[in-house]
Amino acid sequence: MSEGKRLVVLGAQESGVGAARLAKRRGLDVFVSDAGTIKPDYRAVLVQEGIAFEEGGHSAARVLEADEIVKSPGIPDTAALVRAAHDKGIAVISEIELAWRYCKGQVVGITGSNGKTTTTMLTHHILQRAGFDVAVGGNVGKSFAGLIADGDNDWYVLELSSFQLDGIRDFRPRVAMLLNITPDHLERYGHSMERYTASKFRIAMNQGDGDHFIHGADDPVIAAWMSGHTVKPRRWPFSIERHVPEGACLKDDDTLQITTNQTTFDMSIQELALQGRHNLYNSMAAGIAARLLDIRNEVVRESLSDFQNVEHRLERVANVNGVEFINDSKATNVNSAWYALESMRRPVIWIAGGEEHGNDYAQLVPLVKQKVKAIVCLGKDNSRIKEIFGGLVKDFVETTNAQHAVQAGYALAEEGDTVLLSPACKSFDLFENYEDRGRAFKAAVRAL
Ligand code: ADP
Repeated sequence: MSEGKRLVVLGAQESGVGAARLAKRRGLDVFVSDAGTIKPDYRAVLVQEGIAFEEGGHSAARVLEADEIVKSPGIPDTAALVRAAHDKGIAVISEIELAWRYCKGQVVGITGSNGKTTTTMLTHHILQRAGFDVAVGGNVGKSFAGLIADGDNDWYVLELSSFQLDGIRDFRPRVAMLLNITPDHLERYGHSMERYTASKFRIAMNQGDGDHFIHGADDPVIAAWMSGHTVKPRRWPFSIERHVPEGACLKDDDTLQITTNQTTFDMSIQELALQGRHNLYNSMAAGIAARLLDIRNEVVRESLSDFQNVEHRLERVANVNGVEFINDSKATNVNSAWYALESMRRPVIWIAGGEEHGNDYAQLVPLVKQKVKAIVCLGKDNSRIKEIFGGLVKDFVETTNAQHAVQAGYALAEEGDTVLLSPACKSFDLFENYEDRGRAFKAAVRAL
């Protein structure tokens, strides 16, 4: 899009404000429109940068005068204004696509249903330790457009959600990762796994010669899709269950092995900073990317072993009189809670619940039977959790704030037990977001 063209940005949060800043700096005529109230920090940025905006509603006529619209990922395609834009033939893109047009560096893009943030931060950590000029952002931290507005880096490690991928056209990561695909956000995809899967695979749609596609190979949804569709870039599978000649796998049950272009990297899984089966996948994916970028084995090994995990993901909070407390507030869906429970080695008091839209809890039943002694609900409506798990555990308690949940968990625990917050649900019924829930949990643990 050339200078002076009218760009409308819908939604004024991290990605929308990033897009607006970038557009303004590149000389586009930009207008931001938000249906709700804009947070004071973001409003201040818009004012400071002289960007025109409105809030508390969209003026449809002005929005529909745009030559192009950048839609924030939170706004569904079915929103009336977005439909009207499509009907008028106005291109609607995501902030990722806008940023890509002005990006002079190369991108490592990471998507999947779970593990994106962890793998993004881990990959960034390795590249940084290897001396790359690299920035990190996307769906975590700073938006891609915000990063581009503020400077040029050689490399960008980006976490990408399916909503962000829905709005790309030419975006082409040099290295793409698709970690796993399990049901999440299906309400935005007409409750169709097929459409959600297609959305995730968009990460590779513009890739070609010289590009790399790193993907989970134990994931049945990914495998089924790849057997029926062409993926153009060079593929690098990672698997715990089987040997792969090129990519990453587990050797002799205790060694992570990465094979790229006839070279092999080996590392004992004991040495990995991120423990647990799901995190082994994340280390494999990040490790393959690092080796493809020719980062030396020593640097990869050191980085995979000294990485500090991100907050709210299986984060060890404290050990209180022999009872361990773990904050996995980021487990906002069933699959991530599955991995958390799966990785527990001690009897569990499980704090679960929150807002959900038809969670399929059945897959957790075997793990709950095997590992969970008691359940403490932390949610407004716990009826489905009670129905499915109530009869499987010795104690079942319902609470509506973090302090009561932690106190109940502690009261039910014996020395050697773990109190695990891994809700399998979103947090919005009782908290602002999962960070707020995790922080409340940690504060309550520290107050014991
Ligand atoms: P995302 O950014 O995709 O939401 P996170 O890295 O924030 O992923 O992790 C979200 C939750 O999923 C955490 O509870 C974490 O323990 C769990 N998790 C991390 N990696 C994986 C994985 N590869 N597969 C399944 N669950 C995972």
